[in-house]
Amino acid sequence: MSTNLKDLSVQRLGEYFVSEGIPRYRADQVADWLYQRGVEDPHEMTNLDGPLRERLASEWRTRALWLDVLKVSSDGTRKLGLRAADDEVVEAVLIPEERRNTLCISTQVGCPLACSFCATGAMGFTRNLSTAEIVDQVCRAREVVEREDRISNIVFMGMGEPLLNLPAVLEAIQLLTHPKAFAMAPRRITVSTAGVLPQIRPLLESGPINLAVSLHAARDEVRDVLVPLNRRFPIAELLDCLRKEELVSARRPVFFEYTLMEGVNDSPDDARRLPELLRGIPCKLNVIPMNPHADAPYRSPSREVVDRFTAILHEGGLRVTLRRNRGADIDAACGQLAVRSRSPLSPSA
Ligand code: SAH
Repeated sequence: MSTNLKDLSVQRLGEYFVSEGIPRYRADQVADWLYQRGVEDPHEMTNLDGPLRERLASEWRTRALWLDVLKVSSDGTRKLGLRAADDEVVEAVLIPEERRNTLCISTQVGCPLACSFCATGAMGFTRNLSTAEIVDQVCRAREVVEREDRISNIVFMGMGEPLLNLPAVLEAIQLLTHPKAFAMAPRRITVSTAGVLPQIRPLLESGPINLAVSLHAARDEVRDVLVPLNRRFPIAELLDCLRKEELVSARRPVFFEYTLMEGVNDSPDDARRLPELLRGIPCKLNVIPMNPHADAPYRSPSREVVDRFTAILHEGGLRVTLRRNRGADIDAACGQLAVRSRSPLSPSA
């Protein structure tokens, strides 16, 4: 049995309570305190009876992450460095936009996929985050936002590969969407994967959340280098799987991410191949000019090259958005999340 209350979905907490002779509705009450009201001390959960309060306080933990560093970008983006009980640190990024507030959260300490352009990939892999550590990123972020700009969207695009930590991620999604917990609409949640093919269907079956797939190349020779996972699940197999996937539809399109790197994947030929490759998959393509960092040799193409690339995609009939580099001045932009304070960087699992 786990020792953190936030490791369990409301459903599972209820089952556990029942098995212990505690009425199921107590799980709803505990969830209301933990997630709706942000109260973590069981002694303050005043609608529970005294013995249950004592028991929760002595047998369970209720906090998994502590705010270590908060950096604020000139564009309003805020990066939280969050410390776990074992002193590992993960990052979450809060991105205020005109009509929404998106929180980008992590699922692993480091990442085993070693994508050659990603700062997290360069750290190596330390461990998976627990469900409590995933949802506590939301709890800590809520404590630093103003009341009026509440978190409206969650993207699993921080450190790590969510589909390599699927059980914890699915349990976290349960909490994010449960009416007694965070009560978010599933379509305000997006999970991004580098393409761990066998786990895509189990993810989609968990509910109508959005799927993002990090594509980054139109040819295997290039993607093999950028995303080494491509050697196991090459482009054609990945796209074929998505084309046949009935849980992908016009109402639930796939968001492809394409980090644009000068002289690597930014040629007109690459742009012409993409509409053809993605034919038959309801999708949108997000073009993200490379955010440079010390751990990778790549740069963003010039403005003209970026515009030419997206223009060709438009002509090919793709729905394309160009992502602005938010938070780059505090190393909070896409691909810049890495914890540099710990050393040595351990590549071990
Ligand atoms: N492992 C998952 C979740 C991380 S998402 C995945 O790969 O999808 C992180 C996103 O940031 C990915 O779309 C990735 O392409 C993008 N990214 C990584 N490094 C980047 C960089 N240096 N510049 C711009 N985008 C980057």
